[in-house]
Amino acid sequence: MKTSHYSVDQWVAFSKGELRKEVYMEMEDHLYHCDHCLAIYSKLMIEDETVPPMSDDLAFTDQVMEKLSQMGRERKNSTGSEIQRKTYMKQTIIHYTIAAGLTILLMFSGAFEKLSAGVGEVHDTGFKQKESVTENLLNKTLSLLDSMKVHAKEAKTE
Ligand SMILES: [Zn+2]
Repeated sequence: MKTSHYSVDQWVAFSKGELRKEVYMEMEDHLYHCDHCLAIYSKLMIEDETVPPMSDDLAFTDQVMEKLSQMGRERKNSTGSEIQRKTYMKQTIIHYTIAAGLTILLMFSGAFEKLSAGVGEVHDTGFKQKESVTENLLNKTLSLLDSMKVHAKEAKTE
């Protein structure tokens, strides 16, 4: 079993698709098993300048969702062998994890604050309002993950 981690540079190359397929697959597999590298990769995805700016977080969420469904379509178009299906499911799980990680990081960065604005009514100010915002953020995260699950289910039953 591989115990060493990949470097940040390697993850940059990974995210840019600059790697040979075998290396890519190997790293992807590692990502699936390794929280440490998943954290590095998630961080890179946030810092990546190709990701829309934080102020555009609604569009960003849409983009994540779209990428996920695109991925499902691409996989469906290729041959539906059991191995490919398994690989797809695995990738989907990885992308859930990344999306969840991103959501949590975005929550901490306050980028989702705008998303939560207008969700529910906030009567109190100060600490209570903060609590309510956190609750809304949590609901947003859960509904985001729920919609992703629906995407996966659709892909699975096809
Ligand atoms: Zn690792």
